[in-house]
Amino acid sequence: MSELTSLSSQQIRCPYCGAIADRYLLDISQFSEQIIQRCTADRFVTRTVCNHCDYLMVLCTKSDAVVETYMAGF
Ligand SMILES: [Zn+2]
Repeated sequence: MSELTSLSSQQIRCPYCGAIADRYLLDISQFSEQIIQRCTADRFVTRTVCNHCDYLMVLCTKSDAVVETYMAGF
């Protein structure tokens, strides 16, 4: 997932720990066929990454379907 090219990014509050996290807007074409089929209405997904608590959330922008989520150590 580190090869993904973000169209834009913004800083948000991590929904888990409240620290500053980065949210990236990504073109869905960079994801696997399985994910594209799960979010057929979407062209974009957001990827929220918090380096403070290792929170990771990947969401389809329109359908709000969770593509990938990860929380370390909790
Ligand atoms: Zn966090």
